[in-house]
Amino acid sequence: MITLKIDSLPEGHSHQDIEAAASEIDLAIEGGRPASPVRLSLDINRGGDELLISGRASVSVIFECARCLESFTSEIEGLFDLMVVVGGEAPAFGDEESLVRVPAGAKSVDLTDAVRSELMVRAPLKPLCREDCRGLCPECGTNLNVAGCACRGEDRDPRWDALKRLKGEK
Ligand SMILES: [Zn+2]
Ligand SMILES: [Zn+2]
Repeated sequence: MITLKIDSLPEGHSHQDIEAAASEIDLAIEGGRPASPVRLSLDINRGGDELLISGRASVSVIFECARCLESFTSEIEGLFDLMVVVGGEAPAFGDEESLVRVPAGAKSVDLTDAVRSELMVRAPLKPLCREDCRGLCPECGTNLNVAGCACRGEDRDPRWDALKRLKGEK
């Protein structure tokens, strides 16, 4: 669980950094495995019983590259805004999703859901160790980032064939 203590928060702006183990918030990243604590940086604006929280959550994740199958570590970062209302009525503005109500006298607010869902949607659909990863040779399985292989002879590259045709026409 990641919680923010609110009973001692001052009026106006304040800042807090919080860390929690990925397992503490049940963080499951599609196709990856968290490799660091979840770091949370919070900017808080308090006006009485209303708190506006702007949060930045980040975590290092180990992925397997979709092309070359090598493991690599990447930082995932999510931003979220939450309005916390302590007791009383909900304010007239703000959508329900980002609104959290806690009872009057509450000592803390649970940020776990906001952090978890924000990080989970940031997982890449197709993790790549780098944009131009050359992947594995479909024939011999060589990691083409590391070495070439005999299967990729010039004759097999269709772009090369096209070039040869062009030269032939001249
Ligand atoms: Zn790769
Ligand atoms: Zn090959």
